[in-house]
Amino acid sequence: MSRRHVVDVIAGDGIGQEVVPAALACVDAVARRFGFEVEWRHRDWGSDHYRAHGSMMPEDGLDQLRTGDAIFLGAVGDPGIPDDVTLWGLLIPIRRAFQQYVNLRPVRTVPGREGATEIDVLIVRENVEGEYSEIGGRYGRGTPDELAVQEAIFTRRGIERITRYAASLSKERTGTLISATKSNGIIHTMPFWDEVVREVADAEGVEVDSVLIDALAARFVLAPGSLDVVVASNLFGDILSDLAAAVAGSIGIAPSANLNPDRSAPSLFEPVHGSAPDIAGKGLANPTAAIWAASMMLDHLGEEEAAAVLLDACFSSLASGVSTRDLGGTASTQECVDDVLRRLDEVD
Ligand code: ATP
Ligand code: MG
Repeated sequence: MSRRHVVDVIAGDGIGQEVVPAALACVDAVARRFGFEVEWRHRDWGSDHYRAHGSMMPEDGLDQLRTGDAIFLGAVGDPGIPDDVTLWGLLIPIRRAFQQYVNLRPVRTVPGREGATEIDVLIVRENVEGEYSEIGGRYGRGTPDELAVQEAIFTRRGIERITRYAASLSKERTGTLISATKSNGIIHTMPFWDEVVREVADAEGVEVDSVLIDALAARFVLAPGSLDVVVASNLFGDILSDLAAAVAGSIGIAPSANLNPDRSAPSLFEPVHGSAPDIAGKGLANPTAAIWAASMMLDHLGEEEAAAVLLDACFSSLASGVSTRDLGGTASTQECVDDVLRRLDEVD
């Protein structure tokens, strides 16, 4: 009997509806070639679901997802709906309920881009705690004394496990780890972060360099070749990954794996970019991030060979000059996918 994987698909909003079918077609093609099956369970959740039912996903949405092997997400976000509804109504609850505490974001210069900066970095973003917290509030609304408080929550366990994950990746690569910090301005949580990161790195035998986030941002632009594995809190990791993708050529290329490394619940794979309402529905979306995210998903599902072949096909297509407008090309989303599929057909 052939191997079978059950994957929940939330194409979601905007260009999610364009890049997700593109990625699924590529996965189906490698699945046929490598003799496994993927059952796609399509979920029409997202902003349209919110407009129709008042919630981004059904009440038992998490229970539905729990029975699958992985989740593939396009994007959630809508210009007419506040971000706290779209993000906190779907993506953040999934990350937390399923303990997807690692957000792994590889960024690499795409081939075929004239004058592109060389970068090959793995951003390991803490994904369930930190600055993204519900604790806090708004007080004295509308008064001259109005104020807002937002608490960041860091736990020893949380910092330890993300650093351990980053350290293990670092050992497979150059063995140097950079940790993003801001301990000169944020005087409680960040010194704690630095301390625990160092303890774990020492125990793992990995060299760690704590770099202030402002200087690190500049380094991403000025000396991206000096970076390898970067471990960062939820907020810093989010910002650095968009920055890294921009350095590499476009936000349309960066994938993201929200991993539950203990495999006690499904992991979620998605492009880093959002719903891009400005280009949605026009066939302009770069499918690279979604295809790369799909390759990471195959890898996680144990289909390592298929994952590598898919990523190769995607990169060689870019190298041959087939690319969307954000990368300086003229191809549509569909033309990019057709070219990747053609290359997958040629693989022996
Ligand atoms: P959201 O609220 O869903 O996060 P956003 O507008 O804040 O959406 P993105 O969707 O990430 O953020 O878009 C940022 C910019 O990058 C937009 O100008 C968008 O057109 C562009 N962009 C994002 N993804 C892609 C892609 N896959 N291909 C081409 N351009 C993209
Ligand atoms: Mg956004």
